[in-house]
Amino acid sequence: MFITKIGQIPALAEREDLRKVASRYPLKVSSYYLDLIDVHDPHDPLARIVLPHQDEFWEWEWGSIDPSKEGEYTVLEGLQHKYDSTVLMLISNQCAGLCRYCFRKRLFINKKSPEVLKDLDAALRYIKEHPEITNVILSGGDALMLSTPKLREILARLREIQHVHIIRLGTKVPAYLPQRIISDQDLLNLIQESSWPTKKIYIMAHFDHPRELTPLAIQACHSLMRCGAVVVNQTPLIRGVNDDPQVLGELFKKLSFYGIAPYYVFQCRPALGNRPYVVPIEEGYQIFEAARGLCSGLAKRARFTMSHFLGKLEILALTEEQIIFKFHRAADNRNTGKILVYERNPEAYWLDDYAKPLAVHPLAYDTLFPSIYV
Ligand code: SF4
Repeated sequence: MFITKIGQIPALAEREDLRKVASRYPLKVSSYYLDLIDVHDPHDPLARIVLPHQDEFWEWEWGSIDPSKEGEYTVLEGLQHKYDSTVLMLISNQCAGLCRYCFRKRLFINKKSPEVLKDLDAALRYIKEHPEITNVILSGGDALMLSTPKLREILARLREIQHVHIIRLGTKVPAYLPQRIISDQDLLNLIQESSWPTKKIYIMAHFDHPRELTPLAIQACHSLMRCGAVVVNQTPLIRGVNDDPQVLGELFKKLSFYGIAPYYVFQCRPALGNRPYVVPIEEGYQIFEAARGLCSGLAKRARFTMSHFLGKLEILALTEEQIIFKFHRAADNRNTGKILVYERNPEAYWLDDYAKPLAVHPLAYDTLFPSIYV
C-alpha cells in the first residue's frame, strides 16, 4: 500500500540522485496517491508534494530543523502549549505520505524522536489543570494514522474534561489515503460519538492542490461531515504546487463547493531542505490575493499566515514600500492584535528576514478607528 523506495517507482528506479535525497529525508507515498501523479512529468504538482526532488540535496543546509522553535513551547514530551486556549498533542509520527516541505520532518528523520507523546495520563492531567484550554489539537504526524481504538481512548478521555470544547484532528489522510476513512466504519462511528451539538470535532484537512480533491477524497470529507465533524482546510503555499492564482483560486472554490472552509494558507516554513518549495512572502501575498479575487465570499475565507515562534502573523497588506503584518494569535497575549510595519524586502521568506519594524501599533483597533474606540 505504501511506496518507500525509489526503486519501487519504475520511471524513477535509475535515479541515483533521488535515492540520495531520500536517504536524508525518506520517501513515503500511498499507491493511491502515486496513481494520481504523472511520474514522467517533472513539473507535476502532486509529484512535487511527495516525491523527492534533486534540489533538496544541494540545498539541504538551507533552513532549520525546528523553524518555529516548537521545542520552546513543549511543556511535556509531545505536548505544546503556545496559546492560552489551545494545546497541541503530537500523538503520532506516522503520515500516509511524507510531504517534501514538511516543517516537522525532524519527526521522520529521527524515528525515535522524543517529541511524540508517550505519557497520555500526564498530558491529560496538564490539560485538566489548565481550565483556560478549550481547544486540543491532535496532530503529529497525522492524527488519523493512529489506530481507531487508540484514537477512541484519547477522544473519550478528552471528552471527560469539561473545559475542552473543540478537538481538532490534523490530517492529510483525506488527500493521501481517503480509503482509511471511507472503509473504517468504527472511525466514522467514533467521530459521530465525539461530535456533540455543543462540542465539535474539527478535521483540519490538508489539500494543497485541486487535483487532490478526487471523488474518493470528497466522499471521505462528506462522510466525516455526515458524522457531525466540521471540516476545514489549511495548506502551505508551495513553489510548483499552488503558487499560481488560478490553481489556488480553483482549490478555494472547489473546497467551498464541497463544504470545506478554506481556513489558513501558510507561508511555507524555512525548514531544513525546504528551499525548493518556499515562495517569498511578498510574492506569496500577491498570489494569495489574486486567487481570492477569483472567488466568492465563502471561498475566500482563508488567511495568509506565518506560524512564527512569536505567534500567528497574518500578512495583511503590501504598499509600494511597506509590508504590514498583524498578530492573529500571539504567544504573549500582550501582542495580540498588534500591527507590525516593515520596509519591504522581496527576498524575505520569514519575519526574521526583515529589518527592525518601522512601526508597531500596540492598540491596533484604536489606531485604525479612533472614533470608535475612545
Ligand atoms: S501530512 Fe503534515 S505532518 Fe505529515 S508529512 Fe505532510 S506536512 Fe508533515
